[in-house]
Amino acid sequence: MKDITYIGTRNRNIKLKASEAILKGICPDGGLFIPEEMPVMEKKIDELSKMNYRDLAYEVMSLFFTDFTEEELRYCINNAYDEKFDTPEIAPVVEKDGVFFLELFHGKTIAFKDMALSILPYLMKTSAKKNDIHKEIVILTATSGDTGKAALEGFADVEGTRIIVFYPDGGVSPVQKQQMVTQKGKNVCVAAITGNFDDAQTAVKSIFTDEEMKKELDDKGFMFSSANSINIGRLIPQVAYYWYAYCQLVKKGSIKAGDKINFTVPTGNFGNILAGYFAKQMGLPVNKFVCASNSNKVLYDFFRTGTYDKKREFILTTSPSMDILISSNLERLVCMLTSQEETAALMKSLSENGEYSMTAKADDIVGEFADEEETATAIRKMYANEGYVLDTHTAVAYASYDKYVKESGDETPTVIVSTASPYKFAKDVCIAIDEKYRGQDAFALMDELEKLSGVPIPAPVKDIEKREVLHNNLCEREKIKDFVKEQLR
Ligand SMILES: *Cc1c(COP(=O)(O)O)cnc(C)c1O
Repeated sequence: MKDITYIGTRNRNIKLKASEAILKGICPDGGLFIPEEMPVMEKKIDELSKMNYRDLAYEVMSLFFTDFTEEELRYCINNAYDEKFDTPEIAPVVEKDGVFFLELFHGKTIAFKDMALSILPYLMKTSAKKNDIHKEIVILTATSGDTGKAALEGFADVEGTRIIVFYPDGGVSPVQKQQMVTQKGKNVCVAAITGNFDDAQTAVKSIFTDEEMKKELDDKGFMFSSANSINIGRLIPQVAYYWYAYCQLVKKGSIKAGDKINFTVPTGNFGNILAGYFAKQMGLPVNKFVCASNSNKVLYDFFRTGTYDKKREFILTTSPSMDILISSNLERLVCMLTSQEETAALMKSLSENGEYSMTAKADDIVGEFADEEETATAIRKMYANEGYVLDTHTAVAYASYDKYVKESGDETPTVIVSTASPYKFAKDVCIAIDEKYRGQDAFALMDELEKLSGVPIPAPVKDIEKREVLHNNLCEREKIKDFVKEQLR
């Protein structure tokens, strides 16, 4: 097996082993880590199709995390993908109305971020051990809703770690907020932060690039890392389920090994879809990736025009986890399509001018978007046809897929990556199905959704409104550094 090293997207001379890149999270110059070279899957699809999720995840991750021993990696995988998930398949594929849905919401927080965040703490602990680091790892995370809770669940009471989560004040759903502010654990801190998600993410990033602050806390025995999707310890585990989805279609007989399929991915920070793109680079037979945006369609515009322009109104939608104007992981694609020099220049332009343009293109990624009405219609239509209830994010993808097929006539079998349980967004989902629910209490609507869908309320959110609020911090975004120092005294 080939050793894979990780290089910076703005500087190819930054070279680290996987475990070192996982610990660092981000390059000192603000760039992200990418594999210097993409590994190739040597095993045949027929063989992979016989594997369960854990074994397949091992086949994929071992090609990227080449400085981990088999024992170390299997330890991480086995602790992550266990009974925390409510189905032994971990990420089942279901067929509805002629398309396939890859359900990534069977974990502890009923959204896809569990796929990566249930393994990240183990990857980090193992990485620290391998690198002989004995500092307390402090996870700092900005969240548009789902990352925060999934990270809290992943890291809560994991020895040798602390976690501080910032969510945009007023920018997350009532269920998401309730999930976070009721989080238990000795090492957890949750705070609302003024501004929107991009402001929160920028504030957190400012800490990662503040050498003085890092030094100060290093002296106190702390080391920062990130649980955001910029960490390769999150990105790489996601590559596995693209392989797994494909293998399930082969196993079901829906396709033959080697046939190409499409993926439609509801996209925000561009982490999920990028993992799919990595899978394709490794050899997974994929025709197109449809990158689905909500009304914050900065990526749609980018894939159509080559210009990334974040200077626009930030729209709060019913798919809050995709309300993002700066898609951090896109930098990795930009680097893969251009060079470190060009990426550094483009990212400088983004931060100074709010935009950049490039001519290099990924021909296999198509931008689509769905506005609020199209999203609600998609939920209503799927419910009427199949009695299957989509969450708002998955509905953005489903509506985008529909538009893509009409536009292109492409009839390649398609997997829609389903990123959340409808229960997480029960209110907007119910309103989409029937206007009569407008104005009703979000938590009461969970019971209503149970009746509508026939799917029992998942344990992680059952009776959540009755749980005790344990966190009520509000942090001014200009004061984030003081807030963090205060927590780590
Ligand atoms: C985070 C999230 C997304 C967006 O994923 P990215 O990797 O940020 O593109 C989509 N849907 C849900 C439910 C999410 O939580």
